[in-house]
Amino acid sequence: MSGTSPPPQNRDDLYDIVILGGGPAGLTAAIYGGRANLSVLVLEHMLAGGEISSTDRLDNYPGFADGITGIEFAERLEKQALHFGASIVTGSIGSVDAAGSTKKVSTPDGRSYYGRTLIVATGTNPRLLGVPGEERLRGKGISFCATCDGFLFRNKKVAVIGGGDSAAEEALYLTRFVDKVILIHRRDRLRAVPYLQEKLMDHPRVEFLWNTVVKEFVGEQALEKIIVQKVGDDFTSEIEGDGAFLYVGRVPNSAFLEGVEKDGQGYIITSEEMETTLPGVFAAGDIRRKFLRQVVTAAADGAIAAMMALRYLD
Ligand code: NAP
Repeated sequence: MSGTSPPPQNRDDLYDIVILGGGPAGLTAAIYGGRANLSVLVLEHMLAGGEISSTDRLDNYPGFADGITGIEFAERLEKQALHFGASIVTGSIGSVDAAGSTKKVSTPDGRSYYGRTLIVATGTNPRLLGVPGEERLRGKGISFCATCDGFLFRNKKVAVIGGGDSAAEEALYLTRFVDKVILIHRRDRLRAVPYLQEKLMDHPRVEFLWNTVVKEFVGEQALEKIIVQKVGDDFTSEIEGDGAFLYVGRVPNSAFLEGVEKDGQGYIITSEEMETTLPGVFAAGDIRRKFLRQVVTAAADGAIAAMMALRYLD
């Protein structure tokens, strides 16, 4: 800070709550914080709504019996947060200093925001397989978002890797465009909820490669084939395919935050009231160590975090 800047407690850019991440947890915290008359800033690096805006359809959020598209849900959350007075700014997290009574967040392009409290709702990023060709062919046939890229593979053959809810949901979504989806899973049964499993198993354009792992993605300018191996087998085989959608889990986006307790995977450990081990710093949504990572639990976390921030400020 330059010598002429006012001290943090008197600055215009000092908010009651700075929220990192504008997904369902962050925006719900913004709604509750704004409704409690607190000044709230949300820093989001993509579209408001976060990952949910790239989800085709949300069909398990209470109150939406017919489901709602991810993008519409995200827009509604954003509108509601703005309605209650939150400021939503686009930017990445450069550095965070959360140890003192004023929390400082800086972006890589040189902006700084200050908060009396901080709510960390940065969610997770896709996990990579770590096999050859994965990084090089990312965006050239390898994708992490069927909703964004699925239409590029109209009448083609694609692989989906993974066996959880994301893999199952996105494989079903891809059947709208592609001729064939080959679901490659390392075990002989899916982890996804039975409802999704049944829809997938019954689908005529979905095939399964069980007990199979990906060894390499191959292609010059774009993905051409995938080298796979049966678990417990020494031999590899090739699958021709135009696209591969990776859904092998998520990793928490928490590396920027020091001084709070995390578990071995990097998920932030909180109390039931979303408190981290740093005073005035709360965590909400998928970034927390928790049992169930869903939009509805993220929203609940956000509400609790905002009310705890209010209590902390009082
Ligand atoms: P996930 O539930 O962790 O599933 C990851 C899948 O990838 C598992 O099937 C796992 O295999 C497989 N996998 C992990 N590492 C692998 C590796 N190195 N090589 C090959 N396969 C690997 O992740 P997710 O599906 O992204 O879901 C994340 C969270 O979001 C979950 O809590 C999920 O319930 C939730 N979610 C909910 C909805 C919904 O409610 N509509 C939709 C999407 C996601 P194993 O099964 O053998 O472990």
